[in-house]
Amino acid sequence: MKNRVWIFDTTLRDGEQSPGCSMNVPEKLRMAAKLVELGVDILEAGFPIASEGDFQAVDAVSREFPWVQVAALARSMKLDVERAARSLEKAKRPRIHTFLATSDIHLKHKLKKSRQEVLDAAVSAVELARSYVDDVEFSAEDGARTDPDYLEQVSKAVVAAGARTVNIPDTVGYSTPDEYGELIGRIVKALGDTAVVSVHCHDDLGLAVANSLAAVKAGARQIECTINGIGERAGNCSLEEVVMVMKTRHDRYPYNTGIHAEHLYPASQMLSSIISFGPQPNKAIVGKNAFAHEAGIHQDGFLKEPTTYEIINPKSVGVPESRLVLGKHSGRHALKNRCEDLGFHLSAAELDVVYNEMTALADNKKGLMDDEIAAMALRSQQAVAVGD
Ligand code: MN
Repeated sequence: MKNRVWIFDTTLRDGEQSPGCSMNVPEKLRMAAKLVELGVDILEAGFPIASEGDFQAVDAVSREFPWVQVAALARSMKLDVERAARSLEKAKRPRIHTFLATSDIHLKHKLKKSRQEVLDAAVSAVELARSYVDDVEFSAEDGARTDPDYLEQVSKAVVAAGARTVNIPDTVGYSTPDEYGELIGRIVKALGDTAVVSVHCHDDLGLAVANSLAAVKAGARQIECTINGIGERAGNCSLEEVVMVMKTRHDRYPYNTGIHAEHLYPASQMLSSIISFGPQPNKAIVGKNAFAHEAGIHQDGFLKEPTTYEIINPKSVGVPESRLVLGKHSGRHALKNRCEDLGFHLSAAELDVVYNEMTALADNKKGLMDDEIAAMALRSQQAVAVGD
């Protein structure tokens, strides 16, 4: 089990609280069903004190998926923890996830509290949460920018108070893999086997996945992440990316998760259909172009042997098939195959006609649709037949 990494999904909480991503209770339930099928270990379903809808979502997910570990978020305050506990009453495996900022910048400007006051509040919140549930997680908000000595002190104190998981978030996406790995390694060493160390990275510098993986190498065993990487600002660590790094580069990252990768693309598609936007076309793993090949040399190589240009079999992540985009960079090989798919078995002369027309036409276009290719194929056969 020492190489098992727990996937804590926060699509329905951190993801949901970002612009354009609001979900109502039925939508969260629909997405939760997909996440359960995907095999996430912990499902954070909401922040119950924040709204009635969040409270109901945690309650509904707890009732619908009683065998799943369901988490509810709470600030380190009495009312928050009590509200989280109530929302989890029907859960068979409830987790209260309580958090408090620990960086000097947050203490000074946001909380206006001393380090001692924050430490005491964190310990009280964990103790209160433990009076309701056995499974308590504490997050040291802005942990990556917290003085490491103080972070270690807080981490040990919340574990002594009963927390089983200590999360060290890079709340503002500021850290780098080497720096974050060092910090996480220090906390892992300080806590030994008394708690699971978790990471929660934001993507403000595009490093959320890299930072999460550096943390796992340093001993973290829970990754907080979201489908399509949605979340505050630039988003969270992308679940599909971080999981597929561990699967595809198992030689470098010999860690296992419970994720059934063939549900990654369907989960991404479902999220896109619920919220107001999908992943960008060039998004790794789940983007529209993630397995598309347009350049002629690439298409030719891919058609001869997919592994020439593809490191992941698209089917393994639930993508139906590689999509060859026919455009001005495409070669005859891909064009011939597409025409055959469309029912046209072209002679070399006919293929030349279609190829010339395609490259001329595609110059001003982003790519050609199947019906346009079919029309060109038909014209080529007529043209060659009359000796045009
Ligand atoms: Mn966050």
